[in-house]
Amino acid sequence: MIEKLLRGNLSFRHEYVAGARQFLERLASEGQSPGALFIGCSDSRVVPELLTSSSPGELFVVRNVANIVPPADERRSMGDDSVGAAIEYAIGVLGVEHVVVCGHYGCGGVRAVVEHHVPPDSPRLAEWLTHAAPGAMRAAVAGGERVLDKAVEENVEEQIANLASYPMVRERLERGALQLHGWVYDLKSGHLVVWDALADAFLPADGMTANGSAG
Ligand SMILES: [Zn+2]
Repeated sequence: MIEKLLRGNLSFRHEYVAGARQFLERLASEGQSPGALFIGCSDSRVVPELLTSSSPGELFVVRNVANIVPPADERRSMGDDSVGAAIEYAIGVLGVEHVVVCGHYGCGGVRAVVEHHVPPDSPRLAEWLTHAAPGAMRAAVAGGERVLDKAVEENVEEQIANLASYPMVRERLERGALQLHGWVYDLKSGHLVVWDALADAFLPADGMTANGSAG
């Protein structure tokens, strides 16, 4: 496996770097100026740059199990500051104006919460996933069809709400300097659905790019 990765770097240098030398040199010397903070799941099938056709320098990325944003007031007690640090760096230092929380259908972390099936030898995972419980359980209690899909969607909404618990996020939201976006990615089709606050629903992204409202 590791040999494959190292050979992959060789291919990357031949196939990508060789043709993008000026672009990469400019990025290296001028620094990064990403357009969005992308908070996604660690799932190996959800690759932010791939699914958005983004180049190096365009996305500031955080990936963790179940695309979670621990509430600001709880993050210390939960022993995880990495998401908060990324939020403060992306927004405060880099001046990012968009934050995307991107879940995905078929998320194992969300399913574990809905089905109460976190591996017993994984106490940190169990603790981490308590942040996904409010959204996932709303979907589970509501029942009906597509419970797991709804749980994924509710979890994205929950993490968007958690973002606003960070003072830096709240302050910029209040003066209109920051926009939050909730997305869910479909592993099979590659499609995105996007949270629409007015419709109170996730709608196909394709319809939004046509009129530019996807931002
Ligand atoms: Zn996932």
